[in-house]
Amino acid sequence: MKKLLTKMRAGFSLAESYRQPMPVVAIHLFQGGYAYPVCPRCKITLDREYQAYCDRCGQCLSWDDFDKAIVIFRL
Ligand SMILES: [Zn+2]
Repeated sequence: MKKLLTKMRAGFSLAESYRQPMPVVAIHLFQGGYAYPVCPRCKITLDREYQAYCDRCGQCLSWDDFDKAIVIFRL
């Protein structure tokens, strides 16, 4: 029974991981001073800060470490 549960958990783990908040830790800075946070899963820039989920991949986002995010220049 324990083995079966482990198997089932492995199958669900990917879907489950989208619901576990992932910290946003990077900001892309574009020419003109436009800065966009980056989704930690799909690496695509997010339209708004502090949105609960990524628009593209649906990853649940955590903003707890956002003040420590690294800035990546895209000039
Ligand atoms: Zn995403």
